[in-house]
Amino acid sequence: MTDTDRMLVWLREAMDAAQRDAEAATPGPWEPKGEDPGDDEVYTVHDGEHGDLVGDVVAYVRGGAGRTLANQYLMANHADPVAVLRRIAADRKFLDDLLAEKHHVCDDNWYTCFAATQERDGGTYADTDGDTRCNCGRDTRVARRVGLIAEGWGWTEDHGA
Ligand SMILES: [Zn+2]
Repeated sequence: MTDTDRMLVWLREAMDAAQRDAEAATPGPWEPKGEDPGDDEVYTVHDGEHGDLVGDVVAYVRGGAGRTLANQYLMANHADPVAVLRRIAADRKFLDDLLAEKHHVCDDNWYTCFAATQERDGGTYADTDGDTRCNCGRDTRVARRVGLIAEGWGWTEDHGA
């Protein structure tokens, strides 16, 4: 399994988990409560034990350290399950689009990428003596772009170890 494959597995698991959370939550639009919550109203968005998150956005940190209107607006505007699901769907499409990029193939197979397969990439095969490493740059580009998406989802080098 390549580093990119490990990253893709992790990324898809992260997306699946976020999608489950968003589908289980109350769809928006959410709005900030707009007032400083009292000490008895400290919830977190993913806290199922309180359950009644309908309408009121609870966007402050348990314990009160982050109970600010700015946090409420951030949660209302960016954690609404509808918005989360929309971003996940877009990221999945983006990933599919990245992964669909083909290796370079050429009528003169001397210039065809070693990693090209007729099934995926069409064209003619390179004579590689069994070397299947990409030499057209496609795998490097895909790895870099998948890494950028994964970074946005919280991927660190520790996840790949
Ligand atoms: Zn290639």
